[in-house]
Amino acid sequence: MNNYNNNIIQPDKYGRRLKYLRISVTPACNFKCIYCKPHSENMKSEVVEKILGYDDILYVSEIFAGLGVNRLRVTGGEPLVRKDIVPFLSKLSAINGIEEVMITTNGSLLKKYSADLLNAGVARLNISLDTLNAERFNYIAGTNKFEETMEGIRTAIKTDFKQVKINAVMIKGFNDDELVDFVNFAAEENIIMRFIEFMPVGNHNLWSQENIITSEMILNQLSHLNPVKLGKDKNSGPAVNYKLSNGATIGIITPITKHFCDDCDKVRLTYDGYIRSCLLDDREIDIKDAIRNRDTDMLIEGIKEALAIKSKEYDKNSVEVKNGYNRTMSRIGG
Ligand code: SAM
Ligand code: SF4
Repeated sequence: MNNYNNNIIQPDKYGRRLKYLRISVTPACNFKCIYCKPHSENMKSEVVEKILGYDDILYVSEIFAGLGVNRLRVTGGEPLVRKDIVPFLSKLSAINGIEEVMITTNGSLLKKYSADLLNAGVARLNISLDTLNAERFNYIAGTNKFEETMEGIRTAIKTDFKQVKINAVMIKGFNDDELVDFVNFAAEENIIMRFIEFMPVGNHNLWSQENIITSEMILNQLSHLNPVKLGKDKNSGPAVNYKLSNGATIGIITPITKHFCDDCDKVRLTYDGYIRSCLLDDREIDIKDAIRNRDTDMLIEGIKEALAIKSKEYDKNSVEVKNGYNRTMSRIGG
């Protein structure tokens, strides 16, 4: 392993240590979620040309691992639509120092891929599902793959992953009437159900502060199930977890109303070779040349720069929040 001195970059000026790299392997998706605006699977050649090769991503991941990163999450777009994703994940899992490779997926291809992902060393899955209603699914996800997705989710649950979580972006008037259905589903399937606040990234016309379903609103709606707050565990990321009296465990993630920047241990690698040190901050460091030339010193400089500009906290008055972000979520990786 390229084992660099962690102190080159760690901790950052606010005392945060980088442990987690989130990697977007494609901006393409087989869904068209109403808030996300991904590329279709038939991308124009100018987009395809920008996508990092697997070897490029492995090179960057090895450098991050040498600097102390021990967890990698693969996302997109939809990571499972990229050709040869399974052998790539096997190589990622084999990187020295990487303790866990995780994946975030829309679930539609999990019937086909669950066993392969497990064999490739993927430990944990986050599956996005914003509704349990087939008709509503067509509207929110922009596709009629509801049955496939549910089958994929059930296959994943039966596969021997360390953990499967379901993530729902809650949006007022879209799916907030399904909270109880979601927590019943979580109890029946014995999986963790997480509710995520809607962020102003992607379809900015749809987003407004008023559309956000806050943690208080969720806990109020579920008060008859006596939510009991659980302690922090290292796999819950920014979620605050609760146990409900129906047996379900839920997590609530509040990037907008209660940010969690103090403990943030991650940066993102975009599909086209930029380090984005905060999801909700458009500043990015271009590392394409360092990758292309396998220039490790230059790459480490890029990582240092990305950490140096990593925001202390989310700025709700930023230009981006008012006008929309440069990239949609599918081009960042969520
Ligand atoms: N296609 C995969 C999926 O949907 O899980 C991975 C990529 S997707 C961009 C990652 C996550 O970002 C999904 O859970 C999705 O719901 C979430 N997301 C996309 N746009 C969002 C927004 N504006 N606010 C909050 N979450 C969003
Ligand atoms: Fe695709 Fe995920 Fe975006 Fe939905 S949220 S369009 S599944 S990338």
